Amino acid sequence: MVSQLTDLTISQALDLLDKKEISSVELTQAHLTEMDRARFLNAYITETPELALQQAAESDKKRATGEKIGRLEGIPIANKDLYCTKGIRTTAASKILSHFVPPYESTVTQNLKNAGTIMLGKVNTDQFAMGGSTMTSYFGVTKNPWADENGEYNLVPGGSSGGSAAAVAAGLCMGATGSDTGGSIRQPASFCGITGIKPTYGRCSRYGIVAFASSLDQAGPMARSVKDCALMLNEMAGFDVHDSTVADFPVPDFTQALHTDLKGKKIGVPKEYRSKDLNPAVAAVWDKGIEYLKNAGAEIVEISLPHTKYALPVYYIIACAEASSNLSRYDGVRYTTRVDGKSLDEMYENTRTDGFGPEVIRRILLGTFVLSAGFYDAYYIRAQRVRRLIYNDFIEAFKTVDAIVAPAAPTTALSYEAMKNMKPVDTYLGDVFTTPSSLAGVPSLALPIGLAENGLPVGLQVIGKHFDENTVFQVAQILEDEAQFVKTPHYVKG
Ligand code: GLN
Repeated sequence: MVSQLTDLTISQALDLLDKKEISSVELTQAHLTEMDRARFLNAYITETPELALQQAAESDKKRATGEKIGRLEGIPIANKDLYCTKGIRTTAASKILSHFVPPYESTVTQNLKNAGTIMLGKVNTDQFAMGGSTMTSYFGVTKNPWADENGEYNLVPGGSSGGSAAAVAAGLCMGATGSDTGGSIRQPASFCGITGIKPTYGRCSRYGIVAFASSLDQAGPMARSVKDCALMLNEMAGFDVHDSTVADFPVPDFTQALHTDLKGKKIGVPKEYRSKDLNPAVAAVWDKGIEYLKNAGAEIVEISLPHTKYALPVYYIIACAEASSNLSRYDGVRYTTRVDGKSLDEMYENTRTDGFGPEVIRRILLGTFVLSAGFYDAYYIRAQRVRRLIYNDFIEAFKTVDAIVAPAAPTTALSYEAMKNMKPVDTYLGDVFTTPSSLAGVPSLALPIGLAENGLPVGLQVIGKHFDENTVFQVAQILEDEAQFVKTPHYVKG
């Protein structure tokens, strides 16, 4: 029974909870047992089993007494350790925040609490969400629950939301929050064979999410089906007085558009994404996806996003610039771990040198450089201008198509060994397909379509117009139905 409970999707579990065939305590306990067994994956930084069981018991009581229940009542989830959770340690996977216990709750996690979810704990991430492997975490690497060709767990789960993706794929939670600045929901979803959506910039509040790059950061759900992501996003999204960039738009019911056909819809295929050295497994899965959409009645149109090749450098200039500014608050004076020195300046220096990992330091240096008086115009201002051109590419494309379909990541999950031997700039190439839509702020969902020859999952990306997540979900649901992807990784559950 235990393994079955941790295989359920959120929508299946809600159904069983409603029918009183299972209880939230049973469901939560099954996940806690699995978390115990799968500790070798290192998916969680902080586990909160007592809290989870207490919340689950309260939830069961509510159902039993007929009290008003939330739309995700009794569903055990995990939160990326970038979301502030009141009274529960929030580290951003860093040493500098390793003792930080926030006095307040992020809006998104509060919304999920209000919807009746149970929190199993806080999951691992790249430090301050900087990276694509979860290897920059101060709390050690997370393993991908998909084994390599030799049956070894040597693969990265992707990042930065790698803890979320691994936990969802291995059945250590039913869904998880992620955050995406340049691909951190979509790339780990692709590496771990699960579904995740970065909604439109401004759809979810960023209040209480440890900031990386404020003009790009966006919260989003990661789960085992398109419908589960829609159910979670319904609760996560919405206006918030605490974040001036969150849109004051009504949140539609994202499950409404699921299971409708694509007759009359035009789907764009960007020619710039099909370079001659595109990984053949990724290209094959992309073609399969296009075929599925054609069969569902969509018209496939080749489109051009001419400034695609500038997206990576522009992203790394803007993201690092914003990071260097955002991370200046960690100075050893307020909530961070302090390392004393002989003067105030030396204390700052000691604290920050000790508290930040090498990737974070690299980005602070890069960001400070591109913002410095002598280079601001040459790098930062120029990057902002090119960002507008990338944004315009999407606006132009969406005059003719309803959605765009593209690969999510250029490869399947890489091994730790391969990642370790790569230069930092080479690891940045992994974000080639995700950064353009991040810079444009458009919604984008990644879902698994099939397996490559090496037996590992490959994800596709569905990109939509600003605030048109519904079309994204609709197209993704068709792909999910057609692909019938087997969601269980090699990792064998109890
Ligand atoms: N991999 C990208 C980076 O390292 C994206 C990170 C993210 O989206 N948080 O910046």
